Amino acid sequence: AQNEKDSQYIISSWAKDHYHKLLLKSDEGQGIGLSYLRQRGLNQTTITTFELGYSLDQWDDLLKTAEQVGYDRKYLEKTGLVVTRTDDAGQDTGRRYDRFRGRVMFPIHNISGRVVGFGARTLKPNDKTAKYLNSPESEIYHKSDILYGLYQARQAIRAEEVCYLVEGYLDVLSLHQGGIKNVVASSGTSLTDGQIRLIKRYSDNVTVLYDGDAAGIKASLRGVDMLLEGGLNVRVVLFPDGDDPDSYIRKVGDQRFQEYLNSQSQDFISFKTKLVAREAAQDPVKKAEAIRDVLQSIAKVPDPIKRQVFLQQTSAAFSIDEQVLITEYNKLVRTAS
Ligand code: ATP
Ligand code: MN
Ligand code: MN
Ligand code: MN
Repeated sequence: AQNEKDSQYIISSWAKDHYHKLLLKSDEGQGIGLSYLRQRGLNQTTITTFELGYSLDQWDDLLKTAEQVGYDRKYLEKTGLVVTRTDDAGQDTGRRYDRFRGRVMFPIHNISGRVVGFGARTLKPNDKTAKYLNSPESEIYHKSDILYGLYQARQAIRAEEVCYLVEGYLDVLSLHQGGIKNVVASSGTSLTDGQIRLIKRYSDNVTVLYDGDAAGIKASLRGVDMLLEGGLNVRVVLFPDGDDPDSYIRKVGDQRFQEYLNSQSQDFISFKTKLVAREAAQDPVKKAEAIRDVLQSIAKVPDPIKRQVFLQQTSAAFSIDEQVLITEYNKLVRTAS
């Protein structure tokens, strides 16, 4: 099976080179792909560092070129770069075509730097298919164990002793280019335990920078609880509604963005307390619910000393007697287990 995997690594790396060359050297790649990336503010260094590419808007450019060079199409199929068309009865029709066409290509590297899959963004404003397409799971690509950008970020995460977690490819690229190199993305999938274990190999501290829309805030709340359970120290930065880290750094510039992170980052208790307190307003019943909600998150923190500190903070934030809070907390933990 090692040979099988090696062949998949080799074809993925070859495809990455092919897409990269098309982006930089072909008329279509330059005219459509490269000019798009430029318009989004990405420079040549970023394009090279992340080995970005472009897939031609044709049915089988990758398949044809690969076979000309002598690659076995079996591995193109196994890595999902080429799709098999089946008929209504599920029978192979013998027709093959490229999964990624007319898209900007984001190679996804594992921590050894080998390409295991791709993310791909459409460039058509009214594309009826998805804005982003991803490689399917394969023997070499396990989505739940990959963080986009980790290969390029790992040294900076160690050095800065914090990992910034964002939602999208462009967020990673823009921040990296702006000098914030300790940044990774979960890329569409909600955070997994495998991804959290990956982060933990490099740092105990995570700062979540999710999009400033309702979906992003919801995802933050979910993500925070999982990160806490994983034993990580979690901070959160909220962006103005409608902005994500990429659009915001483009708007305010590198310097002010860094200042924004420094001044706006809050620990998860403040983050959650503010969110739930806002919803509860002056309603005492809702306020009680809100407090229990925060207590639920605190219960996820494995370290008892940290839990104690968070309980103190929560009692202060809600102006609730600490003993009352602790009694409530113990009740909650007992009924939960
Ligand atoms: P852009 O700035 O290029 O419009 P984005 O990264 O801000 O993209 P979001 O809509 O915020 O896009 O989504 C965040 C991430 O979720 C994307 O980077 C991508 O990994 C994933 N994603 C978004 N839309 C889809 C989709 N239709 N199918 C699969 N994954 C998606
Ligand atoms: Mn979003
Ligand atoms: Mn965006
Ligand atoms: Mn976004």
